[in-house]
Amino acid sequence: MKPTESQLSERAFKIADDIYRISVPTPYPVGDVNIYFIDGKKPVLIDSGVVGERNLRILSEALAAFGRKIEVIDTILLTHTHQDHSGGANGIRRLSGAKVHAAGWVTTHLADIKKAFEGYYPVMMDLLKRAGFGDEALNAFGQTFQSLKSASKSCPSVMPLNEGDVLEIEGGRQIKVYERPGHSRSDLLFLDEPTQIAFTGDHVLEHITPNPTLELSAVSDGVPYKSLWSYQNSLRATIELPILLAAPGHGAPFRYLPKRCNDILAMQNRRIERTAKVLAEHGPLSLKDLGNRLFGHVKSYDVLLTLSESLGAVEVLESQGRVTRELENGVEYFRIFGKD
Ligand SMILES: [Zn+2]
Repeated sequence: MKPTESQLSERAFKIADDIYRISVPTPYPVGDVNIYFIDGKKPVLIDSGVVGERNLRILSEALAAFGRKIEVIDTILLTHTHQDHSGGANGIRRLSGAKVHAAGWVTTHLADIKKAFEGYYPVMMDLLKRAGFGDEALNAFGQTFQSLKSASKSCPSVMPLNEGDVLEIEGGRQIKVYERPGHSRSDLLFLDEPTQIAFTGDHVLEHITPNPTLELSAVSDGVPYKSLWSYQNSLRATIELPILLAAPGHGAPFRYLPKRCNDILAMQNRRIERTAKVLAEHGPLSLKDLGNRLFGHVKSYDVLLTLSESLGAVEVLESQGRVTRELENGVEYFRIFGKD
């Protein structure tokens, strides 16, 4: 099969006449993250890598492989707010004066991320208590939370993007914006009209099934939001788009995006049915005990990941009318419908 890109330097790849992928390292388990550069009179960057000088240095070395530099960047589009994608935005903005765009609701959160985190803290603690976690787990998670908070950096004056927006880039290029909540509440997909290349962020990855991340922002904003339920709707919507090549947040570009969406949906459905089976055999269960049955005992940040998966699955089952929940001594228990 024809390769989807050609390598220009250690970290720079050409994926179309005027579109480049730059792979930059992150300190996170996921490994490298992609920054895309759409060349033109007013170059556009999709995502920004992590916070810090090293990220800027690696980006500028990679841009040099095709004769460009950070200062020429006109616009930065963020696929979502996770720090491996958005952390570098403010540093790049300061060097280039670029305009930064992200999902509409997220702009105030990004403007003062420490304040946003302070709002999330009681939400998180309440959620963990209702999930059945004791003081020890709460304390441990409090520390993880503080380190997440101090590693997160604000980005002021971010401009909002919403479903159906079309960015007109100088030279007549159009980039369409699609909201794709699920992996995170802030997920956007950018479709480059002339090439039909879709920048999918972490909405769809080729080799990883992204986590339906628990969204504390939704609770603190008072918005009813169900991560996995939203994610499945988003995947079904992406299948319908005219896309030739997917340019993901991690890994090389790939073809056959609808097939990959269907594979992820199938994997999610298997997990949902496994959750139903565990609840039928062992329920009613708290989210903590459900997570232990599904994933085994986990610690620190992995608590968040397994909690995200368990909550995501029971919310889908609830929406199908198959699961009910009841509160007992401050802990929520999930019961499969029809089981005493
Ligand atoms: Zn992400």
